[in-house]
Amino acid sequence: MTTALSILWACFDSAEPQFSYREVHSWPEANRKWLLESGVLVESGAATSIACPTCPDAHVEEVLELPDSTPPRFFIPCPEEVRVEIALEHLRQWTVDMDAVAAIIARALTLAGGVRVVSPGRLWRLGTTKLGATSREVVLMRRQNGEDGASVAAHIGQTGRPIVLFAGGEPAASIWPGRTPACIALPRVMSHNGVSLEANALLLHELVSRADDLQSQLHAVPIDPKGKKLIVRRQLKAELASHLDDSNLVAAYRQHGSMRKAAKALTSERGTPVTKDTVARAVARAGGAKAVMNVEDSESVGRSVASHRRDRGKNMDRYRN
Ligand SMILES: [Zn+2]
Repeated sequence: MTTALSILWACFDSAEPQFSYREVHSWPEANRKWLLESGVLVESGAATSIACPTCPDAHVEEVLELPDSTPPRFFIPCPEEVRVEIALEHLRQWTVDMDAVAAIIARALTLAGGVRVVSPGRLWRLGTTKLGATSREVVLMRRQNGEDGASVAAHIGQTGRPIVLFAGGEPAASIWPGRTPACIALPRVMSHNGVSLEANALLLHELVSRADDLQSQLHAVPIDPKGKKLIVRRQLKAELASHLDDSNLVAAYRQHGSMRKAAKALTSERGTPVTKDTVARAVARAGGAKAVMNVEDSESVGRSVASHRRDRGKNMDRYRN
């Protein structure tokens, strides 16, 4: 079930992940079934524009309804076929229910205390886990490297040494008001057994201990900034060497804004060649280039009226916080 998880992790930091009928039905049956039945994917209203199903270049066109037809019939203009009829079924599209994802992760980790939304769409308190003699709070964070990352991070608080789970790019050290908490990439500790999401609690605890150790090293002895940088870089290199999955590829694309630049940066960062096609495939799995960039208010191909409405709701939520 790596596909289902790689789809989920890759779109994790997308502002508004949107999957078309065609995309969802290109996934292996078992993956699609789990994503839908677990509630990770939820239907998000009919698409108002769609890629042409008959042309190889899949040009995207606005969907037009034939006036006065019962049942309703839909078409798109096409330079080849003049117009192409689209079945109502093919206008269906899906988005990711992040609250459902938060609940699934908390359940997989058998956390105590229940899930609570702190900042809608961005931050959840998932519960607590026992680590040795102490109880540690686990939070889930999304789009932590967005412009308002620091203000979202500020909600976490400094007490109780929280564990921060994320799936997109590694949170930048600058977003934390004080000591950097233990930040763990979900793809490293989560797997899928074909039926449900499973967590490797042992590995999670080990990674948390390692992150704790790094922080005490950084804070125990007064080291010069150069030495500090060296410790962090060594740790980061070890982390990077251990996984290059969709979320890293998408994060690089988001940072550099082009497939070619992202591939170049990843290649020099890792010392092994990463092609722009590898980046492009990961971006496609994440719902496409538009979905992965943090474009919130501009027009975006393939988004429904319903999703625009939801966008506005989200923005207002953000201003309230
Ligand atoms: Zn066409």
